[in-house]
Amino acid sequence: MPELPEVEVVRRGLADHVAGRTIASAEFRGTRVARRHLAGPGDLADRLAGNHVEAARRRGKYLWLELSAPDGSGQALLAHLGISGQLLVEAADAPPEKHLHARFRFADDGPELRFVDQRTFGGMALSELTDGRLPETISHIAADPLEEVYDQAAVVRRMRARDSAVKRALLDQTLVSGIGNIYADEALWRAQVHGGRLCSSLTKPTLSRVLDHARDVMLEALGEGGTSFDALYVNVNGASGYFDRSLQAYGQEGRPCTRCGTPIRREAFMNRSSFSCPRCQPAPRRRAV
Ligand SMILES: [Zn+2]
Repeated sequence: MPELPEVEVVRRGLADHVAGRTIASAEFRGTRVARRHLAGPGDLADRLAGNHVEAARRRGKYLWLELSAPDGSGQALLAHLGISGQLLVEAADAPPEKHLHARFRFADDGPELRFVDQRTFGGMALSELTDGRLPETISHIAADPLEEVYDQAAVVRRMRARDSAVKRALLDQTLVSGIGNIYADEALWRAQVHGGRLCSSLTKPTLSRVLDHARDVMLEALGEGGTSFDALYVNVNGASGYFDRSLQAYGQEGRPCTRCGTPIRREAFMNRSSFSCPRCQPAPRRRAV
């Protein structure tokens, strides 16, 4: 799944190539892509025609286009990338991709926006905007570490009150958003904290350090175009990022820890894998879940 840096790379592409343009028509192919729009793909296309794209926005791993309809009302078109969704900006006469699920033509007759999704877990849906200009359907999602409204001290206080594993808390999008399995493991490795430690057993400075590292590692990944955890993850021009070369823990099982030389271990956690250094991140005697 794309995490904050990968989604931000796509958002920047949409801000550069799609914001400021008016949608002339939208077309949805098949039933999967618009399944969250209960009135169906035809209705979704009708509601999008004539909308002006005000901006491309993101919170955590969530991405949306802020639209204004011809009558002046605002709404959001949320794009869920799922595990293989791609938003591509392409010439209108480029041949359709095999897994093309949606295309948007613009009033300026310039390049199209296409949604290509091989595994069809992604999709698009309209949402009302709240007063805070967040799509209503994601208004329960917490601020991410790159937002101005993000309050790390408050996140640390809420984490300390929890009887759960610190890694579980990092992945909880209602506490802090944008962090997934890759950047949680990298942040915990940098902070030298085992993900199975109980939140309430960690000091405020330690939790702050974990969150500082989460922000730093995501910013570094953003600088390298994101992590290509999957060949399908690409920016709007079809290029992939290269932060996977800089990963220190995630996916590094058996390779020597770059800090101490001990082979990185893989453990099962929340139906996924966690990667850590047995020496730099000793497991607690009693693991929290
Ligand atoms: Zn180590």
